[in-house]
Amino acid sequence: MRIVSDCVARIFRAIVIFVEGRKRDMELLKQRIRQDGTVRGTDVLKVDSFLNHQMDVALFEEIGKEFKRRFEGCGVNKILTIEASGIGIACVAAQSFRCPVVFAKKSQSKNITGEVYATKVESFTHGKVYDVIVSKKFLGPEDKVLIIDDFLANGAALEGLMDLVNQAGAQLVGAGIVIEKAFQPGGDRIRARGIRVESLARIKSMSEENGVEFVD
Ligand code: 5GP
Repeated sequence: MRIVSDCVARIFRAIVIFVEGRKRDMELLKQRIRQDGTVRGTDVLKVDSFLNHQMDVALFEEIGKEFKRRFEGCGVNKILTIEASGIGIACVAAQSFRCPVVFAKKSQSKNITGEVYATKVESFTHGKVYDVIVSKKFLGPEDKVLIIDDFLANGAALEGLMDLVNQAGAQLVGAGIVIEKAFQPGGDRIRARGIRVESLARIKSMSEENGVEFVD
């Protein structure tokens, strides 16, 4: 009886340490968003001092390790992202996964040949629709793909990447997102399709006056 209760106590402690560790990791990112992020209007968060213009590589390392912890044991052998702002994070995360990164290129339609998978993505920040391509050489049925991106808003970028994975006949393991604006519809819609989406910081609401409020 004593052995059983010791075991249960140990497992419980291990779970607490694991959960607390994850909270701390996410806290680091949230603190940085609070400190250095600036809200523009009602729905744009600028994080260009550490995430998608100047890049804090030490923070990226922590983010990469956290994605690895969350998708441990899923057999990820390829990371897919979209140019340009997903590339830095994806490359650092790939060091933890020890796998290559493929980034989908935004392209002019006239350059598209039969050797690529192609889809269309409406850019949240620029309001334009891009043709997005990946060479057939770099994605195929043998791949177990983790999609990584800096933001999830309306879900167009993620759904475009999911379409490319689908065209390749590859297996989608899930998506790792650094910042999800949970008040926008992309995350809920994609999760409702049964896709595993892991977002490290989920924003409940934000405004120029009050800054950013997180989901948890
Ligand atoms: P979605 O396609 O989900 O609407 O938007 C995701 C893409 O738009 C990301 O790849 C990201 O580059 C960009 N994005 C969306 N919202 C924001 C934002 O608030 N700030 C910045 N800097 N980029 C964003």
